[in-house]
Amino acid sequence: MELILNKEKCNGCGACIDACPFSALIMKEGYPEATEECRLCGLCVNACPEEAISLPEELKKKKRPIKKARDVWVYAEHRDGKLARVSFELLGKGRELADKLGQKLVAILIGHQIETSASRLIDYGADIVYVMDHPDLATFNENKYGAVLIPLLKKHCPNIFLSAATTRGRSLIPQIAADLETGLTADCTGLDIDSKSGLLLQTRPAFGGNIMALITCPDHRPQMATVRPHIFPKPQPNPNHKGKIIRLEIENELPENVKVKSFIKTETKGPDLSEADVIIGVGRGIKGPENLKMMEELAYLLNASIGGSRAVVDAGWLPPRCQIGQTGVTVSPKIYIACGISGAIQHIVGIQSAKTIVAINKDPDAPIFNVANYGIVADLFEF
Ligand code: FAD
Repeated sequence: MELILNKEKCNGCGACIDACPFSALIMKEGYPEATEECRLCGLCVNACPEEAISLPEELKKKKRPIKKARDVWVYAEHRDGKLARVSFELLGKGRELADKLGQKLVAILIGHQIETSASRLIDYGADIVYVMDHPDLATFNENKYGAVLIPLLKKHCPNIFLSAATTRGRSLIPQIAADLETGLTADCTGLDIDSKSGLLLQTRPAFGGNIMALITCPDHRPQMATVRPHIFPKPQPNPNHKGKIIRLEIENELPENVKVKSFIKTETKGPDLSEADVIIGVGRGIKGPENLKMMEELAYLLNASIGGSRAVVDAGWLPPRCQIGQTGVTVSPKIYIACGISGAIQHIVGIQSAKTIVAINKDPDAPIFNVANYGIVADLFEF
């Protein structure tokens, strides 16, 4: 598939070339020409003042009917029926978006013996909860969950579909976006509605966290985004909020290509990192894994969890699940104590919801001091 250029209309102004974010258009003999870098994003189509460029017909046909698309949907994640905190955080944000659009907030709950959770989703703002309860859905399986979700989304065509950027969300949601032929913005840190166009404004870090990108999905529905836990606040429940619970029968056959036998919980010391009130952040400044003992002792005394920078995880001193930051987990403790962490932007994005940051670093110019509430310039071993 290629861009279509109407040479009679084109005046060779080059606006399309300037608009292309992939530098995929070149000027050849006075006319723009797409190179193989072209991703058919359509920005050049919008930029052309002469309406001389268009997308191929096959691509246009794939668009979901935008006018029909309505409502904000949230996929409610749970573990054995216990709703994940991030589900409430998404409902809080989803409610705000739905109110701005004057549309409904819909939650989807999938699993087995999970119906009791449906009314909680209503307390947290859902107007409608679709429940898909079936023994075959008792254990999370992205193939099976996808097989029940995709037909539902195709039938109702939501305007916006939000999910958590958890391990489960990350395995389930991209296949849905691909099947629905729509865009997906992963790991959003901000969501809002554009007051003029009504489009979902999706903000996320890009280029290694050095810039914040604002992404929209103007031509396809649903507008899909995933959000990490702890990015949005958990709203207060409102037991007076009214909503409808709709139980859906599983009509289609569920795929059997992957069988999940069971989930085994990893043994962790101290509270779960994502739920911890106090976290000791360990950086390369601790010099080596032999010094982790000292950190663990401090964590024990403060009932804290241990997390760390990517440098420490890459060195194998801590397991990957302990990595905090852009490519690790986002945390929101009451106190974060950064020990020998420089404060690279990729680390900071993971701790920006921490209420109080204490940093211990021997370098007074370390960037961690720019975000710390209390800074201690010292050799951490002495301190
Ligand atoms: P360093 O940068 O080596 O800093 C060590 C610090 O310890 C220094 O400030 C030093 O002054 C101090 N120090 C040394 N000795 C002592 C002492 N005795 N007492 C006190 N202080 C001492 N990083 C993450 O953390 N999380 C991520 O998710 C992440 N994702 C990334 C994604 C991408 C795409 C990229 C490019 C990078 C990512 N990084 C991430 C890496 C990040 O850029 C940094 O390299 C990393 O955070 C540095 O870890 P550090 O602060 O432990 O180590």
